[in-house]
Amino acid sequence: MRTEGQRAVAKDYYGILGVRQDASPDELKRAYRKLAREYHPDVNPDPAAQEKFKDINAAYEVLSDPKKRELFDLGADPLSPNGGAANPGAGGPFVGFQDIMDAFFGTSGARGPRPRTRPGSDAILRLELDLNETAFGVEAPLTVDTAIVCKTCAGAGTAAGTHLAPCDSCGGRGEVQAVQRTFLGQVVSTRPCAACQGHGTVIPHPCGGCGGDGRVRTRRSLTVKIPAGVEDGMRIRLAQQGEVGPGGGPPGDLYVEIHERPHDVYSRKDDDLHCRVTVPMTAAALGTRLTIKTLDGEEQVEVRAGTQPGSSMRIRARGVPHLRGTGRGDLFVHLDVRTPTKLDPESERLLREFAKSRGEEVAELSKQGGFFSRVRDAFNGHP
Ligand SMILES: [Zn+2]
Ligand SMILES: [Zn+2]
Repeated sequence: MRTEGQRAVAKDYYGILGVRQDASPDELKRAYRKLAREYHPDVNPDPAAQEKFKDINAAYEVLSDPKKRELFDLGADPLSPNGGAANPGAGGPFVGFQDIMDAFFGTSGARGPRPRTRPGSDAILRLELDLNETAFGVEAPLTVDTAIVCKTCAGAGTAAGTHLAPCDSCGGRGEVQAVQRTFLGQVVSTRPCAACQGHGTVIPHPCGGCGGDGRVRTRRSLTVKIPAGVEDGMRIRLAQQGEVGPGGGPPGDLYVEIHERPHDVYSRKDDDLHCRVTVPMTAAALGTRLTIKTLDGEEQVEVRAGTQPGSSMRIRARGVPHLRGTGRGDLFVHLDVRTPTKLDPESERLLREFAKSRGEEVAELSKQGGFFSRVRDAFNGHP
């Protein structure tokens, strides 16, 4: 039987839920639950999702109700004002996402009071170290600002000689229930009890030392052993040196984050070190010995005769020790060559003579790899 005349144009409720016209109540439920996970305003802040969820609600409201579904199958929209049906779902306040899940899975009310004693959180501390310290390790003193167990009450939170009492507001359950009538039926929503913060107990006489929290903030000193070879950004974990939890709960961990101060001579790349040394043009040409200050002390290095600007020398195992395993990185000495300026007449005469003897008075043009390109390299500092 079709209701002719004032027939509203209904939305495609089957299409909105993505089910076939002969979908069973279980299939409808699964489809609705899946879409609620995706579009419910509690989990999806997009305004477009909110609009879509209104349609999803309307579709489920109609199709999950055999009477409304029958009307819809006959071509009417049971939710339209003209259809005459009550309209509790569409446009009303949304049922909370967790409450929908509870209504489907029956998990409501099964949570119980929250324990007063809970694990503490982790803490993080920044530690600035010099290259010498990260390379060879150090015992660094730390000042830590964290919560520790209240000595007055040993974490209980109660004043001496007093005890916890059951919460009157929730009867010790830690939660209160409210019944909401919705198109899903009666939805029982459960909230933590505000009077006892969900603990189910109250502290009639809080400890004067901690105000009932069972812990106090304090500053303490400890020493952390930094192993050789740590790198900038690494974190070292000190088990159970973090915050004590509420009610004197077990402490979290303390993480010490390493920050390596820039060195004025060396730059570090992994476990290798790099530095730059400038030698006079004559030393580069004739060869020389250099004294390099390494992390381990002074070291003599040989600059071979004919050394080009931008070349580098590797001193093995004078870098940073490897954190894992044995051995060390290398030290790279990059050579810059300084060309003399402000020549006195005698030096200038000698240089001209030298150039003449080598036939180098004039720069040659355009020969790849010839004299000209060497001149250019000297200007740029690098080949
Ligand atoms: Zn309570
Ligand atoms: Zn206390």
